[in-house]
Amino acid sequence: MTEPRPIRVLDPRLTNQIAAGEVVERPASVVKELVENAIDAGSTRIEVELEAGGARLIRVRDDGSGIGEADLPLALSRHATSKIGSLDDLEGVASLGFRGEALASVSSVSRLELMSNIEEDPTAGWRVVVEGPRMEPRVTPAPHPRGTSVSVRDLFFNTPARRKFLRTEKTEFGHVEEAFRRQALSRFDIGWVLRHNQKTLHQLRPGDDLIARERRLQALLGRAFLEHALHLDLASGGLRLWGWVGLPTHSRAQADQQYFFVNGRVVRDRLVAHAIRQAYRDVLFHGRHPVFVLYLEVDPGAVDVNVHPTKHEVRFRDGRLVHDFLFSSLHRALGEARAGAAPGGEG
Ligand code: ADP
Ligand code: MG
Repeated sequence: MTEPRPIRVLDPRLTNQIAAGEVVERPASVVKELVENAIDAGSTRIEVELEAGGARLIRVRDDGSGIGEADLPLALSRHATSKIGSLDDLEGVASLGFRGEALASVSSVSRLELMSNIEEDPTAGWRVVVEGPRMEPRVTPAPHPRGTSVSVRDLFFNTPARRKFLRTEKTEFGHVEEAFRRQALSRFDIGWVLRHNQKTLHQLRPGDDLIARERRLQALLGRAFLEHALHLDLASGGLRLWGWVGLPTHSRAQADQQYFFVNGRVVRDRLVAHAIRQAYRDVLFHGRHPVFVLYLEVDPGAVDVNVHPTKHEVRFRDGRLVHDFLFSSLHRALGEARAGAAPGGEG
């Protein structure tokens, strides 16, 4: 018989490292979490900077609300959030974050430093880091422009098993760039910068009219995407779908240019994928994949985003309604495009 071993409460660093296993897989996951925070803070400009594919440094700077001195010690602790306070809030959550876990998780597996300032005075501001197994916050004055910067150095330096899973600099940066692309597509009204090893790779000006949006699409997805896509904007029964879908003649061998946003959050959803596949079924060659950048807007209360820690999945209250709306909207748009393209315009 085995002797019972004593039960212990784990140190915060260890519980945070365990939680990090779920959300912090690679540099791209850190970028996603930090950028979500910057968006939630109402930023108008977000800069993402990396060194060595993000393994050495990931820094996200924003010009958002900032975090006040009194709240700074809590920003890096687990289950601490300014975004919800009750179950009611969670049911209708409109912010990208709400779990209060990202900063605690990331700081348990890296050297994380956060600087923030809520005032216009650029000589004001604070810096916070956490130390030791209890992850005690240490707050010191540090000048910073209004907004927040989070620097994450040496990701996974203290979790060798995870560190081993990091791929080459090029591969990791590829994942980061994809995460950046998704987020820059989620908010046209925000200006974005992406830098890697001191080189600026993307510099996207804010702009929310059709011309500005299409300029951004072209910068992020290439000219071919835009040349072969049609713009649509349809609403019915409290749902709105807008964006761009590729003409069937511009399909791809891989499903690598497919972006679907629900209330500004990029999601992968089987129901959505099915509706789109159905709409393209008769017009696409077998084994080819459509390209699209689509935005679905629904009442926040009609969709549950608390399905998975990475929040890539959602659950619709009325899945059938969403499915049928997507299918019929896309089917119609594609049908009209075909009719319009045919010589003489057949019915
Ligand atoms: P969540 O986003 O789920 O609330 P996080 O761990 O990502 O949890 O962040 C914890 C808290 O720190 C947030 O609720 C927010 O109040 C604050 N915070 C984090 N990043 C920023 C930022 N860039 N600007 C302003 N506040 C921030
Ligand atoms: Mg967050």
